[in-house]
Amino acid sequence: MTAAPALELWGVRKEFGGQVAVDGVDLEVPEGSFFALLGPSGCGKTTTLRMVAGLEQPTAGAVSIGGRDVTGTPAHRRPVNTVFQSYALFPHLSVLQNVEFGLRRQRVPDARARALAGLQTVRLAHLADRRPAQLSGGQQQRIALARAIVNNPSVLLLDEPLGALDLALRRAMQLELKRIQAEAGLTFVHVTHDQEEAMTMADTVAVMNAGRIEQLGPPAELYELPRTPFVATFLGRSNLVAGTVVEGSGGVLGVEVAGARLQVPADRSAVSDGPVLLGVRPEKVRLSAQGEPPPSGSNVLGPGTVTDVSFTGVSTAYQVDLGALGVHEVFAQNTTGAPTSRPGDTVHLAWDVDFTFGLVPDAAAAS
Ligand code: ATP
Repeated sequence: MTAAPALELWGVRKEFGGQVAVDGVDLEVPEGSFFALLGPSGCGKTTTLRMVAGLEQPTAGAVSIGGRDVTGTPAHRRPVNTVFQSYALFPHLSVLQNVEFGLRRQRVPDARARALAGLQTVRLAHLADRRPAQLSGGQQQRIALARAIVNNPSVLLLDEPLGALDLALRRAMQLELKRIQAEAGLTFVHVTHDQEEAMTMADTVAVMNAGRIEQLGPPAELYELPRTPFVATFLGRSNLVAGTVVEGSGGVLGVEVAGARLQVPADRSAVSDGPVLLGVRPEKVRLSAQGEPPPSGSNVLGPGTVTDVSFTGVSTAYQVDLGALGVHEVFAQNTTGAPTSRPGDTVHLAWDVDFTFGLVPDAAAAS
């Protein structure tokens, strides 16, 4: 028999005075995994997390932890711990006492040893005697984390825990959190609005929008094969052009885009006829000067005019206006160094059919 998932949500819904904050969320988090709930401000991430913690009661649906239905269980009886953006450390207690505090209250016999082990996990045992005020923000956040992991929760909930840190520290702490999760072997459910953060740390990312999960999967899958315009644009930049599926054979769909004929593999398209949004990531798009033959096996759009070239060191990003097609911003990015085109150049854009994805057009993407 396989172990029950660490966390399951079935049709979880939350309304506040008739306003829907969470609109029927289903998810399953395997034990020992790092799961991220990613989405823009107000999409319902925190409310979802609070329903797992028991701080909010679902309007409908059920929450199960370790195979046990906890929907009606009060927060303090749930085997979870939450780490928030604010560290809420006791200022008058030492670092060690802060980590030990909860264990002592539960009369855990080896509280001191466990607290020290927790401090070792976050690599701050050498600061055990300091007061929180004598620590940096990142160190305080690690203490808050140590305090949560020593309880050995079935699920550790993290609500934007790095939100108060500056960018460099935030990036360092992302790797640190990932290491701690792997080392402690705990299940982490992490809420963030930062796509890079979610993709850096999590095994599985659930992208939320307007109270719903739009797509759930490993970061590379979400990036390579987004299933909605929202996911395509929220996780990095995507070029999206509107077209119509006009034929399909041999597992490839033919799509007309303003007079041009493009292709998309049928298994990479969410639609098989009618209107479609064709997408491709900028780094997959190559520029070719006018007169150069387009590479075979490629989708080609053009001619267009380069309107912007930005060299960032690791890559060069181009913005191209395909005015004749009614598409004014197409992005290409090469990672091989120096710019190959300049603003004003006439170019064609080409990319492999296999990198193309097809989406159901929605009102938001069309605007
Ligand atoms: P953020 O990243 O800004 O924290 P979020 O994705 O975590 O956003 P939630 O805090 O879950 O979003 O809020 C989802 C929606 O529910 C928002 O429209 C919010 O205003 C509303 N909401 C949240 N808590 C309450 C509450 N206690 N009473 C009324 N409305 C609420």
